[in-house]
Amino acid sequence: MIDLIKECEGAAKIGISGHVRPDGDAIGSCLALRRYLANAFPDAKITVNLEQPPRIFHELVGYDEVRTDFAPEDEPYDVYFALDCNRERLGPAGAYFDSARKTINIDHHVSNPGEGEIHLVLPEISSTGELLYTLFDEKYMDREIALALYVAIIHDTGVFQYSCTSPDTMRVAARLMEYGFDFPRMIKETFYEKTYLQSQIMGRCLMESIRFMDGRCIVSVVDKRTAEFYGVLPKDYEGIVNQLINIKGVDCALFLYETDTLEFKVSLRSTPAVDVSKVASYFGGGGHVRAAGCTMKGTFHDCVNNLSQRIAEQFPDAE
Ligand code: 5GP
Ligand code: MN
Repeated sequence: MIDLIKECEGAAKIGISGHVRPDGDAIGSCLALRRYLANAFPDAKITVNLEQPPRIFHELVGYDEVRTDFAPEDEPYDVYFALDCNRERLGPAGAYFDSARKTINIDHHVSNPGEGEIHLVLPEISSTGELLYTLFDEKYMDREIALALYVAIIHDTGVFQYSCTSPDTMRVAARLMEYGFDFPRMIKETFYEKTYLQSQIMGRCLMESIRFMDGRCIVSVVDKRTAEFYGVLPKDYEGIVNQLINIKGVDCALFLYETDTLEFKVSLRSTPAVDVSKVASYFGGGGHVRAAGCTMKGTFHDCVNNLSQRIAEQFPDAE
């Protein structure tokens, strides 16, 4: 366990970052920690440096204060937090982390060995949001923090659906609910609601998906041309891979989108039959047993062929 208050005592300048392409857990965790430390240390300057978080999170405390410029700083940070990722996935914020006087890494990704001077990586915990709650002293908590942590938890548990959800997750969520916020609306607006365009691209991905390995795997892809045709961005693909893994008989779902010429971002989801964190780690990515990702070079077919080999190895009847 980490005593956050003790570690930040006397710090004048504190920084917090999560991973690139921040999701609900990364955003909720960063914003919750910022508010928590601001309540405990009203005189400290506390900054969240993140890539622009999607607008759906605009109600979370400090959303408008998130710094997205990653401009060089004159003075190093006294304490720098890397949340929900390892050093490498901080993107340009890695420079702040490297130059900070003290570094703290808090995460729940099994692929993270733990980085920084002080680190706490607990892969059995649903989300960084849940993990932070266990480190927080209720004395400095408020409704805004509770909401940000709740949003972090619902995003990484798929609203308490994925296997990472534990009885403790539910107990933490129950405690957070007692702070009183409009949870049905927050769940709808940040998790389920899609724009018409997002629904269209999802529809197209489902229509054009391809099953292989006797229907145990499924893949769908958005190439650059298609993305440009619809005018969609990576954030619009949220939820597609989760829809693919919900298809009956599928043990492993792959969703790829083209990030550059001959480069794809890969999202993987699985049932207990496959450990996709192993597959993603093999290709330089990482994540969790049932949800992971990586970036790969090559044609779409090369990527899928290489991924299939790693997946097939895990099927008990694989040769
Ligand atoms: P998603 O498919 O939703 O982008 O990511 C699923 C999980 O895998 C998340 O926990 C995410 O943090 C992790 N992940 C996705 N892409 C990468 C990657 O390129 N590297 C690492 N280390 N983790 C990733
Ligand atoms: Mn997370």
